[in-house]
Amino acid sequence: MVMKENVAEEEAKEEVDRLEVVMETRSLTEEEEWIYAECNLWCEVVEACHITNRSWDFLPVRNNLSGVWSSIVKVLNRTVVAGLPLRRFFKGKVGNGDNISFWIDPWLLNIPLKDVCPNLFRVESEKRCKVSDRLKLLDSGLDRVWNWKRMVMGVETISEWEILSSLLDAAVLSRAKDSWSWIGIGNGVFSVKAVRNLMFDDFDISNTTVFEWSNWLPNKCNIFGWRAEMGRIPTASALRYRNIQVADASCVLCGDVEESVDHLFTGCIFSARIWQLISSWCKVQNFFAFSFKDLLDSRNFVGLSGKAKDIFYGIIIVGCWCIWRARNLQKFQNKHAKVEETIGEIKSLGFLWAKNRAKIPSLNWDLWCKFVIM
Ligand SMILES: [Zn+2]
Repeated sequence: MVMKENVAEEEAKEEVDRLEVVMETRSLTEEEEWIYAECNLWCEVVEACHITNRSWDFLPVRNNLSGVWSSIVKVLNRTVVAGLPLRRFFKGKVGNGDNISFWIDPWLLNIPLKDVCPNLFRVESEKRCKVSDRLKLLDSGLDRVWNWKRMVMGVETISEWEILSSLLDAAVLSRAKDSWSWIGIGNGVFSVKAVRNLMFDDFDISNTTVFEWSNWLPNKCNIFGWRAEMGRIPTASALRYRNIQVADASCVLCGDVEESVDHLFTGCIFSARIWQLISSWCKVQNFFAFSFKDLLDSRNFVGLSGKAKDIFYGIIIVGCWCIWRARNLQKFQNKHAKVEETIGEIKSLGFLWAKNRAKIPSLNWDLWCKFVIM
């Protein structure tokens, strides 16, 4: 077991080394960085092809054209503040909804809906539709109008549909014109000074949900944690609760009990072992979580502070994300989940993101493995 873990770590280390070379020689966007890590670590080229469709960016620009607009977009895309591209700090303020894109612009949340509901976005017929195409202001309230390419009833789609429906409950339209606002620090007006302040200030871009965004992780991980915390990931028990037939509802990792969010991430012997290994890696006391919320709160009780605490919290989210991946691979591709492989993934992905996004330039693999965070 120890031997195997060392081999997995060694392989992960080589993988990270190779990734680092690419990172240094190219200027990758957040999305490309993500896709690159995904492709290389797990060869998910198919998924990458779906995600790399850059033309659905909310700041459209043709790469072969130069000029002021093109330069502005380049700056917005390349400048990373508090671990996020600068362009993420603008948000649409919907009036009549005629000028803000429903899926591509951030308006309801600080991230575009296409990122929250990628499967629904895939079956949308008009990717560039405006908010007013999907929401009609009537005297009686808002009417929702959909235009799907086809009906898809996958489990992911169903849970995305639920999320979207509940998010849209908060949508408000008026007769006023749409506008854009700066959601960084300041009074809602974009200025160079506001950007400068932001660069020297840690800023939490998360919306007001209970789930706290980890600022050094890609959105994909944060969105996963956010959904899991609301019980909105398609576990067997969540599906049953929604009256969807599940042939075998037992946890695929231990075969013991019905699979729920709390079981999968805290009660399961597989995840218990992962948290044990993470405790000893991060040199903190073993912690015992009885619910997903306990798990997220654990960072407050393990005796860490400052940067190390932030990193530990992110590692917990990466841990959950990797456990979910391992569960999916076993369930859908019959790839037996192994604790040592999963812990290897958590360490290598964590390292990659911490080094590049958590503002710890001095971090190297050895320090990371000893959890020396300075
Ligand atoms: Zn289990």
